[in-house]
Amino acid sequence: MNKKELTEKAKLHLWVLCFEIGERRVGSEANRKATAYVKKVLEESGWKTEATELSVIDWKTDGAILTYNGQLFEVFSSPYSLGCSLQGELIAIHTVDQLKQADMKDKIVLLYGEITSQQIAPKNFPFWNPEEHQYIISLLERGNPKALVCATERNSAIVGGVYPFPLFEDGDFDIPSVYMKDTEGEKLLACTGQIVELESKAVRISETAFNVIARNNVETAKRIVITAHIDTKIGTPGAIDNGTGVSIVLLLAEMLKKQPPKYPIELVFFNGEDYYGVPGQVKYLKQNAGKFGDILLNINIDGVGYREGLSCFSALDIPGNMRGILQEILLNTPEIVEGLPWYQGDHSMFLQNGCPAIAVSSQWLIENIECQDITHTSKDNLSIVGYERVAECAIGIAEFVNRL
Ligand SMILES: [Zn+2]
Repeated sequence: MNKKELTEKAKLHLWVLCFEIGERRVGSEANRKATAYVKKVLEESGWKTEATELSVIDWKTDGAILTYNGQLFEVFSSPYSLGCSLQGELIAIHTVDQLKQADMKDKIVLLYGEITSQQIAPKNFPFWNPEEHQYIISLLERGNPKALVCATERNSAIVGGVYPFPLFEDGDFDIPSVYMKDTEGEKLLACTGQIVELESKAVRISETAFNVIARNNVETAKRIVITAHIDTKIGTPGAIDNGTGVSIVLLLAEMLKKQPPKYPIELVFFNGEDYYGVPGQVKYLKQNAGKFGDILLNINIDGVGYREGLSCFSALDIPGNMRGILQEILLNTPEIVEGLPWYQGDHSMFLQNGCPAIAVSSQWLIENIECQDITHTSKDNLSIVGYERVAECAIGIAEFVNRL
């Protein structure tokens, strides 16, 4: 297939994933539609597939309301939080020291300023979990407040373009919480010591989701694992994050069938990269415990195809022979450049288990990670996709894998 044909196919996959299906949050019907779609395409290309069931929670809210004496404050239910309908005395906390000393029992706690500068890692998140975050969570759980109101600022480096950002996005943390803009928090500060009313119409729902894995018939040597996460955050159709990555793996499924590499290939659609519990990744880790030595290389595709700038391949801990092949491909492909190392993706899991990895993404996104306002928002839609970039990445990866 030439670049033009691949570009057209990429368009079709992206149309289905990001327009017909749209937001693919873990546990939703749309998410299951997306995994069924990739499974069907893989089988049509002749791959043996496996869908691994994951027990997850889906989450919905009909909104949240915070009032004091008739005055309304704009708040949002924290994703995956429990709902509530209650009233209590408002206290305000802005440092960890204050949190240590505060009597929070039966209060509604406004968290603002320093303590809300970074999103708190989910309680059971396996890959990145600073002690300070766990400490804040344990202080809150011990203090047992009725609910939390979190005022947050703009922070693109950590949460993409989301403002305000939810301080907690954690289905394992059971204190009901809402979040609001820092500017709204400043107004609410005037109400400390008063009785405020809070309602958050959020519900957690037990659901299922799937990892989809496909394998070719080669079973001799170490395998190459090509990965893309299929889930999105709530509120985005996830075009660049990560409809394009999913589409590239589907293109590769066709290309590598027609021109099979000599290594075993495993194509993995992970469910959960953008979800608090990363269930698909945790499941894969368990399934492969003690067996990461059988993996020659991980190629993880996430954030590819932004219409501005080029695509980039970031080589992480790869051996000399692979580096040589990669350099040749980069030399012959002006649309792909070597990228800076970055670690906020599923390739980190492979690196942590001693496997080399290549992370495929958009140069513009990696270089502007701290100032862009697209990721995890409704702006991440098909209008920002450069379809040719998607086809070029598929061609570059196929060539690399075939030359190993
Ligand atoms: Zn992503």
